[in-house]
Amino acid sequence: ESGSSDTDVVVIGAGPGGYVAAIRAAQHGRDVTLVEKNAYGGTCLNVGCIPSKALITATDIAYDAGQAEEMGVYAEAAVDLKEMVEWKDGIVDRLTNGVEKLSSARGVTLVEGTASFVNERTLEIETGGERDRLSFDHAIIATGSRPIELPGMAFDGETVLSSTHALALERVPQRLVVVGAGYIGMELSTVFAKLGTDVTVVEMLGGVLPGYDDEISNTIRSRAEKLGITFRFGEGASDATQTPNGVRVTTENEGEESFEYDADHVVVAVGREPVTDTLALEKIGIEPDDRGFIRTDEQGRTECDHAFAIGDVTGEPMLAHAASKAGHVVADVVAGETTTLDEFVVPAAVFTDPEIGSVGMTADEATERGYEPVVGRMPLNASGRALTLDEPDGFVRIVADGDTETILGAQIVGPEASELIAELALAIDLEATLADLATTVHTHPTLSEAVMEAAANARGEAIHTL
Ligand code: FAD
Repeated sequence: ESGSSDTDVVVIGAGPGGYVAAIRAAQHGRDVTLVEKNAYGGTCLNVGCIPSKALITATDIAYDAGQAEEMGVYAEAAVDLKEMVEWKDGIVDRLTNGVEKLSSARGVTLVEGTASFVNERTLEIETGGERDRLSFDHAIIATGSRPIELPGMAFDGETVLSSTHALALERVPQRLVVVGAGYIGMELSTVFAKLGTDVTVVEMLGGVLPGYDDEISNTIRSRAEKLGITFRFGEGASDATQTPNGVRVTTENEGEESFEYDADHVVVAVGREPVTDTLALEKIGIEPDDRGFIRTDEQGRTECDHAFAIGDVTGEPMLAHAASKAGHVVADVVAGETTTLDEFVVPAAVFTDPEIGSVGMTADEATERGYEPVVGRMPLNASGRALTLDEPDGFVRIVADGDTETILGAQIVGPEASELIAELALAIDLEATLADLATTVHTHPTLSEAVMEAAANARGEAIHTL
């Protein structure tokens, strides 16, 4: 279809949104060019999901080894953070090489450089001072997001760190201040607390993980406190100054009292902002919203008919699998299909200790939308598998429509919650009912039995909980 253009589909950004869009468009037989200015795999593979999960695994092993005396295991792990980070980097390399190879093997043309729009059909690509032009029929913008800097606390990579810097530290800090108790702040705090760092988390709001209800966030908070993490709620960080040994962080509360915390480093994890500044979006008639995110319709189309946007650059949910799904859908739309983004339910996971998995509606959200929900629960302290894992904190909660018993949502806190939530996402996708989940035989002893029991509990028929 590309006629006189250099490429039919140009994808800007090779993160989990962009590379999936590019591969999918190539599967549709399109001529595809994928432009990346930095590293294949984007935030997720290089400085996000993958490196953080690698360090979480390694620090769990080190920490758990020293916590098993009750089981008759006496051990203390010695940690070399430099080697741990090298191991993590090896995984990142393997996966990012994979993205490059898979894209090439599908016939996607890879171009290294920074893309910006010249007009509605032309892109300029700058590589090491050289500028090239590329004409296109369709553009898919997948330029992602970056960490927000706080005023007075610019990232310097030494004392004031972003999540990216924190994931590359080679020495275990003695003291760390983490600003922000969202999921990135909480995952990083847990990693360093398990390595023995004295961690203080400063959070403007009243609790951890804003957006999750009290039952969930309190479970995470109390486990974090058991790990030795100190929380300072209702305080906002306003300044960081260098000290001979590191950094002094100043915070203020609503009563305008001021506090100071000394640490080796401060990690600022207060959210992420879209990356659009180098794109010259005005050249194709796109005006981002007041926070800089690109607005799209239900098929991912922007104000410019033949330009689409996917992933973090379009705002919440800023999650890798949401970006990938959007990439898939938009590539299908470009190929002439009629799919829409709202046909899909998007689960979310937080890799704290314990983990959180959630999908669909909470009971309150179901009520707001006019349902009369029923809720089934199974506490993990009644699960044989949770006890044999020595992980009894947490629960499975399932929300269903009281009339039809159709599953509307689920919230899971516990080990492997990130895996367990997939069964519930499938259940919602298939419009399954409580009976479907409750009567499916689940392997014993497993955590997934708690899903079955929670579904049975919603019908008053659970065996292992009241
Ligand atoms: P990105 O992955 O940000 O990719 C955008 C790409 O575009 C980048 O490679 C960038 O270099 C490139 N680019 C930007 N501008 C241009 C330009 N003008 N020209 C050329 N190229 C350009 N999500 C999860 O689902 N699970 C997790 O466990 C998880 N953990 C995370 C942990 C951390 C510490 C962080 C920071 C994030 C985490 N995320 C997680 C979020 C996840 O990384 C993002 O949602 C995901 O990467 C978004 O994908 P994307 O394709 O939209 O953008």
